[in-house]
Parts: sequence; C-alpha cells; structure tokens
Amino acid sequence: MSKYLETIHFIREQFPGKDFVPLHEPKFNGNEKSYLLETIDSTYVSSVGPFVDKFEEMMADLSGTSKTIAVVNGTSALQVALRLVGVNNGDEVLTQALTFVATVNAILYNSAQPIFIDVDLDTMGLSPRAVATFLEEFGEIRDGFCFNKKTNKKIAACMPMHTFGFPVDLEELIIVCNNWNIPIVEDAAESMGSEYKNRPVGSFGKLGVFSFNGNKIITSGGGGAIVTDDWELGAKAKHLTTTAKRPHPYEYVHDDMGYNFRMPNINAALACAQLEQLDLFLADKRNLATAYANYFTTRGINFREEQPNTKANYWLMCIELENKKDRDLFLKETNDNSVMTRPIWQLIFKSSLYADFQKDDQKNALFLEQRIVNIPSSAR
Ligand SMILES: *Cc1c(COP(=O)(O)O)cnc(C)c1O
Repeated sequence: MSKYLETIHFIREQFPGKDFVPLHEPKFNGNEKSYLLETIDSTYVSSVGPFVDKFEEMMADLSGTSKTIAVVNGTSALQVALRLVGVNNGDEVLTQALTFVATVNAILYNSAQPIFIDVDLDTMGLSPRAVATFLEEFGEIRDGFCFNKKTNKKIAACMPMHTFGFPVDLEELIIVCNNWNIPIVEDAAESMGSEYKNRPVGSFGKLGVFSFNGNKIITSGGGGAIVTDDWELGAKAKHLTTTAKRPHPYEYVHDDMGYNFRMPNINAALACAQLEQLDLFLADKRNLATAYANYFTTRGINFREEQPNTKANYWLMCIELENKKDRDLFLKETNDNSVMTRPIWQLIFKSSLYADFQKDDQKNALFLEQRIVNIPSSAR
C-alpha cells in the first residue's frame, strides 16, 4: 500500500487521458504550424527574418522593457548579459547555489567566479538579507566598485534567479546592490509572465534573461532573450550576439570578439506563435495551481504559492515535504506510477567542479534541497 496513492490519483485526474503524466510538456494549439510553414516557404529559416523582429517586439512589450535581443538559448543570453555589465576575467558574481547549472556556467564562461549566497525560504530565490550580510563582512568599496576583502577580487555583478517562476524579493535586493554599486542581471529563464509589484520580472535588473527551451512555459524549440531598458547596452548585445559585424552592404569587418548566438527565424516563428498564447497558458496553470493548493492544503502538505505583491507564472509547481525520507518516498511512488516528479536541483557546490567557490552557510538552500519536489505542471 503506497502512502501517496490518493495523491497520485488526484494528479492523474488533472491530466485526463494520459497514461504517463509528464512534468511539463509544450502545447502547440495556435499558429505554430502556419508560422513554421511561412518560414520554409519564404526560405528565411536562419539567422535573420521577419519573425525574429516580431518576436523581439513582442518580448519587449511583454517584459516591459524597451529592447529585446533574441538569442539561441538562455545560457548564452546569461553569458552575454554578464559580459555586458562588465564581468571580466577574474571577477566575482553573487548568485545562488539553489539553481539550474546554467546560471553558474554562464559566470564561468566569462572566466569569472560565483559566490554562493543563500536563498530565502519563502521565495526560494536569492536572499537580499543574505547578500547584505555577506557584503557587510566581505565587501569594500574601492574607486566606486565593490571588492571582496577576502579574495581582493571585484564583485562585478549580482545574478538572482526566480526559482520556478516565483519572483525574488527584488525591491530589497535592488536597495542592497545599489548600496554596493553592484549591477543586477536577472536570471528570469523560468519566469516569463511572472510579476513583482505589477511589473514583469526581468525588467528590474540592468539586463534580464529568458529561456525558451522545450521545458519552459513558452518554447521556441531552443531559444533565449536578453531584455533591457538601456538602449546602448541593448545595441551592444545585438552587436556581440551577431558576430560583432559592422553594418556594411557586403564587407566582413568584425570589431570585437562576438558570438554566433542569433535566434534563427524558424525558432522565432515558433516563439511568436507560443507568445500569442502566453495568457492562456498562464490562466490554465493558475487554475491547476488553485486545484493543487486546495488538495494539498487540506492534507497538511505545503503547496508553494506566490508571495504577496507578486504574481508567479507557476511554471513548475512544487510541494514541500516534511523531510528527505518523505521526499524520497514521494518521488519513488509517483515515478513508479507514471506520474513524473523531480526533486529540486542538487546545490551547485556539491558537484566537485563547483566545490571550491566562496559561500555562506546555505542554511535555507540546504533545507529546501531536501524537501522540494516538482509535480506535473503543464498547461492543459
Ligand atoms: C532553463 C534555464 C536556463 C538556461 O536556459 P537554456 O535555454 O536551456 O540554455 C538558465 N537558468 C535557469 C534558471 C534555467 O532554468
């Protein structure tokens, strides 16, 4: 007799007709096919085309920023965004260890190092209080920039991540980072459609980054975007991600070490069709979240809901179990019964490659790591 049989049954009921219930699957009921055919008929399937322009306009609108740059994936968007705020060889970047590995890899790709700061228990994202505590102990302003007294390295950026689409406490974080003159790059890869105080996340930092990978709320197959209100940075982002080629009718002159990170038109076509349905996806996920909240709350299980003053996109929904033993049992029973569930990420510094970077006590991250499980969350 399994402890979670009734729960498995309830989850199945939310996804009628499915033998296997995936964690998150994309849904293509809009203009996807017609837009994709349009790109093929036009021959514009590659790195330029009208859907790229349309996607960048739609994204600027939806993210509440003035400029969007479409790129191949969220990881490369993070890499370029960090470079653009001035992260250089040997610098340090404040971020959380409770995240997907791409957040940290993007720092390493810039030959910089992460400093792992704890998360808040309620948001599961970077804790402004923990950032402040760390900087009070280790921070020092030299020539207007923040340095780490322990390593003598420049702390060149702070990169919060909005875990599963739940916004971090941005207002507090902005105050702390402004005090120390540290620019913020938001890893909003998971949070298209989430809001903090009625403003889209991704629009609070100097730059924000989104992902449109197949498992995210909106997918372009693979894809990412950099958003910003800073026109100069936006223009630089476009330049760097398109091989740093100087505009010229026919000559090839490249004035920087750029990247081939352009989003192909064929992917942008898919992204446009998906973005048109964002409100539908958000509404259906919210319905599912309400059903889950009612079910789990009456059974004494903590279903994670959005914080006051925020709107979550409920990309991946999650419950918090009592302890690791319960968590492991829940994972086993659900997956054995074709209901896909997954634990939250192993903390990044537990992999040997990332073990030697500076970190604080990680009290909340360690607590959540043992207890949080994602449950099926697809829009239906
Ligand atoms: C998905 C994701 C990324 C990377 O996006 P890709 O498009 O897969 O490269 C980065 N950070 C977080 C937190 C993510 O969830």
